[in-house]
Amino acid sequence: MAKQGLLIVISGFSGAGKGTIVKQLVSQYGYSLSISCTTRSPREGEVDGKDYHFKTREEFKRLIDYNGFIEYAQYVENYYGTPRAFVEEEMAKGNHVILEIEVQGAMNIKRQYPEAVLLFITAPSAGELKARLEGRGSEDTKAVEKRMKQAIVESNSMSTYDYIVVNDDLETCVKHIHDIIDAETSKSCHKVDFIEQIKQELKEIGKE
Ligand code: 5GP
Repeated sequence: MAKQGLLIVISGFSGAGKGTIVKQLVSQYGYSLSISCTTRSPREGEVDGKDYHFKTREEFKRLIDYNGFIEYAQYVENYYGTPRAFVEEEMAKGNHVILEIEVQGAMNIKRQYPEAVLLFITAPSAGELKARLEGRGSEDTKAVEKRMKQAIVESNSMSTYDYIVVNDDLETCVKHIHDIIDAETSKSCHKVDFIEQIKQELKEIGKE
Protein backbone atom coordinates (compact mmCIF):
# COMPACT_ATOMS: atom_id res chain seq x y z
CA MET A 1 0.00 0.00 0.00
CA ALA A 2 1.30 3.49 -0.85
CA LYS A 3 2.42 5.67 2.04
CA GLN A 4 -0.27 8.18 3.16
CA GLY A 5 0.72 11.70 4.13
CA LEU A 6 -0.05 13.03 7.60
CA LEU A 7 -2.80 15.47 8.50
CA ILE A 8 -1.33 18.28 10.61
CA VAL A 9 -3.76 20.57 12.39
CA ILE A 10 -2.50 23.93 13.61
CA SER A 11 -4.64 26.07 15.91
CA GLY A 12 -3.75 28.81 18.35
CA PHE A 13 -4.64 32.12 19.88
CA SER A 14 -5.14 35.06 17.62
CA GLY A 15 -1.85 36.97 17.82
CA ALA A 16 0.25 33.86 18.53
CA GLY A 17 1.74 33.98 15.04
CA LYS A 18 0.03 30.96 13.39
CA GLY A 19 -0.25 32.56 9.96
CA THR A 20 3.45 33.41 9.71
CA ILE A 21 4.47 30.01 11.09
CA VAL A 22 2.32 28.16 8.56
CA LYS A 23 3.71 30.24 5.66
CA GLN A 24 7.26 29.40 6.81
CA LEU A 25 6.47 25.68 7.13
CA VAL A 26 5.17 25.66 3.55
CA SER A 27 8.01 27.69 2.02
CA GLN A 28 10.88 26.07 3.97
CA TYR A 29 9.73 22.47 4.11
CA GLY A 30 7.23 22.10 1.27
CA TYR A 31 4.21 20.97 3.28
CA SER A 32 0.88 21.19 1.45
CA LEU A 33 -1.42 23.85 2.83
CA SER A 34 -5.18 23.38 2.65
CA ILE A 35 -6.98 26.56 1.57
CA SER A 36 -10.29 26.83 3.38
CA CYS A 37 -13.62 28.08 2.12
CA THR A 38 -15.21 30.91 4.07
CA THR A 39 -18.32 33.05 3.95
CA ARG A 40 -16.52 36.05 5.42
CA SER A 41 -15.52 38.96 3.18
CA PRO A 42 -11.92 39.27 2.04
CA ARG A 43 -9.74 41.59 4.14
CA GLU A 44 -7.54 44.10 2.44
CA GLY A 45 -4.80 42.33 0.49
CA GLU A 46 -6.43 38.88 0.67
CA VAL A 47 -6.64 37.00 -2.61
CA ASP A 48 -9.39 34.53 -3.55
CA GLY A 49 -7.89 31.06 -4.01
CA LYS A 50 -4.71 31.98 -2.14
CA ASP A 51 -5.80 33.06 1.34
CA TYR A 52 -9.29 31.53 1.19
CA HIS A 53 -11.88 30.43 -1.33
CA PHE A 54 -14.43 33.15 -0.66
CA LYS A 55 -18.00 31.82 -0.96
CA THR A 56 -21.53 33.11 -0.55
CA ARG A 57 -23.66 31.43 2.11
CA GLU A 58 -25.58 29.61 -0.66
CA GLU A 59 -22.40 28.30 -2.26
CA PHE A 60 -21.10 27.21 1.14
CA LYS A 61 -24.34 25.42 1.94
CA ARG A 62 -24.25 23.59 -1.41
CA LEU A 63 -20.72 22.40 -0.62
CA ILE A 64 -21.93 21.05 2.73
CA ASP A 65 -24.77 19.21 0.93
CA TYR A 66 -22.30 17.66 -1.55
CA ASN A 67 -20.08 16.42 1.30
CA GLY A 68 -17.43 18.80 0.02
CA PHE A 69 -15.85 19.45 3.44
CA ILE A 70 -14.00 17.14 5.81
CA GLU A 71 -15.04 19.57 8.55
CA TYR A 72 -16.67 22.96 8.81
CA ALA A 73 -17.50 25.27 11.70
CA GLN A 74 -19.11 28.55 12.50
CA TYR A 75 -16.69 31.07 13.94
CA VAL A 76 -18.06 34.42 15.10
CA GLU A 77 -20.72 35.05 12.43
CA ASN A 78 -19.06 33.28 9.49
CA TYR A 79 -18.60 29.72 8.25
CA TYR A 80 -15.23 28.11 7.54
CA GLY A 81 -14.67 24.71 5.94
CA THR A 82 -11.81 22.45 4.84
CA PRO A 83 -12.28 21.19 1.24
CA ARG A 84 -12.31 17.39 1.12
CA ALA A 85 -10.89 16.81 -2.37
CA PHE A 86 -7.58 18.66 -1.89
CA VAL A 87 -6.84 17.07 1.49
CA GLU A 88 -7.64 13.51 0.36
CA GLU A 89 -5.70 13.83 -2.91
CA GLU A 90 -2.60 15.29 -1.23
CA MET A 91 -2.57 12.68 1.53
CA ALA A 92 -2.98 9.91 -1.04
CA LYS A 93 0.09 11.28 -2.86
CA GLY A 94 2.02 10.89 0.42
CA ASN A 95 2.18 14.65 1.11
CA HIS A 96 1.72 16.03 4.62
CA VAL A 97 -1.19 18.47 4.68
CA ILE A 98 -1.46 21.43 7.07
CA LEU A 99 -4.87 22.69 8.19
CA GLU A 100 -4.88 26.04 9.98
CA ILE A 101 -8.26 25.85 11.72
CA GLU A 102 -9.98 26.79 14.98
CA VAL A 103 -10.61 24.44 17.89
CA GLN A 104 -14.06 23.02 17.00
CA GLY A 105 -12.72 22.01 13.58
CA ALA A 106 -9.60 20.52 15.16
CA MET A 107 -11.68 18.32 17.51
CA ASN A 108 -13.83 17.21 14.58
CA ILE A 109 -10.71 16.21 12.61
CA LYS A 110 -9.33 14.24 15.57
CA ARG A 111 -12.58 12.23 15.75
CA GLN A 112 -12.47 11.37 12.04
CA TYR A 113 -8.70 11.00 11.65
CA PRO A 114 -7.26 9.69 14.93
CA GLU A 115 -3.76 9.73 13.44
CA ALA A 116 -3.91 13.49 12.75
CA VAL A 117 -1.33 15.52 14.67
CA LEU A 118 -2.82 18.46 16.55
CA LEU A 119 -0.61 21.41 17.49
CA PHE A 120 -1.66 24.44 19.47
CA ILE A 121 0.45 27.59 19.10
CA THR A 122 0.66 30.11 21.91
CA ALA A 123 2.67 33.15 22.91
CA PRO A 124 4.90 32.58 25.98
CA SER A 125 2.40 34.35 28.28
CA ALA A 126 -0.99 36.07 28.27
CA GLY A 127 0.72 39.43 28.76
CA GLU A 128 2.89 38.82 25.70
CA LEU A 129 -0.15 37.76 23.67
CA LYS A 130 -1.94 41.01 24.58
CA ALA A 131 1.16 43.05 23.77
CA ARG A 132 1.39 41.39 20.34
CA LEU A 133 -2.26 42.07 19.58
CA GLU A 134 -1.84 45.70 20.64
CA GLY A 135 1.37 45.96 18.67
CA ARG A 136 -0.37 44.97 15.44
CA GLY A 137 -1.75 48.48 15.28
CA SER A 138 -4.67 47.28 13.16
CA GLU A 139 -6.82 46.41 16.21
CA ASP A 140 -8.64 48.91 18.40
CA THR A 141 -8.97 48.33 22.17
CA LYS A 142 -12.38 46.67 21.75
CA ALA A 143 -11.07 44.21 19.16
CA VAL A 144 -8.09 43.32 21.37
CA GLU A 145 -10.44 42.72 24.31
CA LYS A 146 -12.65 40.50 22.13
CA ARG A 147 -9.69 38.42 20.99
CA MET A 148 -8.42 38.08 24.57
CA LYS A 149 -11.90 36.84 25.64
CA GLN A 150 -11.88 34.37 22.73
CA ALA A 151 -8.45 33.18 23.93
CA ILE A 152 -9.96 32.33 27.34
CA VAL A 153 -12.53 30.08 25.63
CA GLU A 154 -9.91 28.47 23.37
CA SER A 155 -7.55 27.83 26.31
CA ASN A 156 -10.11 25.30 27.61
CA SER A 157 -9.34 23.06 24.60
CA MET A 158 -5.54 23.29 24.81
CA SER A 159 -5.16 20.05 26.77
CA THR A 160 -6.86 18.03 24.01
CA TYR A 161 -4.09 18.93 21.54
CA ASP A 162 -1.14 16.57 21.05
CA TYR A 163 1.45 19.36 21.26
CA ILE A 164 1.59 22.84 22.75
CA VAL A 165 4.14 24.94 20.90
CA VAL A 166 5.33 28.23 22.37
CA ASN A 167 6.14 30.83 19.75
CA ASP A 168 8.88 32.87 21.37
CA ASP A 169 11.26 33.02 18.44
CA LEU A 170 9.77 32.40 14.97
CA GLU A 171 12.66 30.48 13.46
CA THR A 172 13.03 28.18 16.50
CA CYS A 173 9.29 27.59 16.58
CA VAL A 174 9.08 26.64 12.88
CA LYS A 175 12.02 24.23 13.25
CA HIS A 176 10.42 22.75 16.38
CA ILE A 177 7.16 22.03 14.51
CA HIS A 178 9.07 20.48 11.61
CA ASP A 179 10.92 18.23 14.11
CA ILE A 180 7.61 17.18 15.69
CA ILE A 181 6.22 16.22 12.27
CA ASP A 182 9.41 14.37 11.48
CA ALA A 183 9.19 12.42 14.75
CA GLU A 184 5.51 11.61 14.09
CA THR A 185 6.37 10.09 10.71
CA SER A 186 8.96 7.86 12.41
CA LYS A 187 6.36 6.22 14.64
CA SER A 188 6.15 2.49 14.05
CA CYS A 189 2.47 2.75 13.01
CA HIS A 190 3.60 4.81 9.98
CA LYS A 191 6.43 2.39 9.19
CA VAL A 192 4.43 -0.79 8.63
CA ASP A 193 5.65 -1.22 5.01
CA PHE A 194 9.24 -0.52 5.96
CA ILE A 195 9.13 -3.00 8.84
CA GLU A 196 7.74 -5.68 6.49
CA GLN A 197 10.45 -4.94 3.94
CA ILE A 198 13.27 -5.24 6.51
CA LYS A 199 11.79 -8.46 7.89
CA GLN A 200 11.66 -9.92 4.39
CA GLU A 201 15.22 -8.82 3.62
CA LEU A 202 16.50 -10.31 6.86
CA LYS A 203 14.86 -13.64 6.05
CA GLU A 204 16.37 -13.67 2.57
CA ILE A 205 19.86 -12.79 3.82
CA GLY A 206 19.51 -15.46 6.51
CA LYS A 207 18.92 -18.09 3.79
CA GLU A 208 22.19 -17.22 1.99
P1 5GP B 1 -9.92 34.52 10.06
O1 5GP B 1 -11.29 35.04 9.76
O2 5GP B 1 -9.21 35.38 11.10
O3 5GP B 1 -9.10 34.31 8.82
O4 5GP B 1 -10.10 33.07 10.73
C1 5GP B 1 -10.86 32.91 11.85
C2 5GP B 1 -10.62 31.52 12.44
O5 5GP B 1 -11.12 30.52 11.57
C3 5GP B 1 -9.14 31.21 12.66
O6 5GP B 1 -9.01 30.64 13.96
C4 5GP B 1 -8.84 30.17 11.59
O7 5GP B 1 -7.81 29.27 12.01
C5 5GP B 1 -10.17 29.47 11.48
N1 5GP B 1 -10.35 28.74 10.21
C6 5GP B 1 -9.87 29.05 8.99
N2 5GP B 1 -10.24 28.13 8.09
C7 5GP B 1 -10.95 27.18 8.76
C8 5GP B 1 -11.60 25.95 8.37
O8 5GP B 1 -11.58 25.51 7.22
N3 5GP B 1 -12.24 25.26 9.34
C9 5GP B 1 -12.29 25.70 10.64
N4 5GP B 1 -12.95 24.93 11.51
N5 5GP B 1 -11.70 26.84 11.04
C10 5GP B 1 -11.04 27.58 10.11
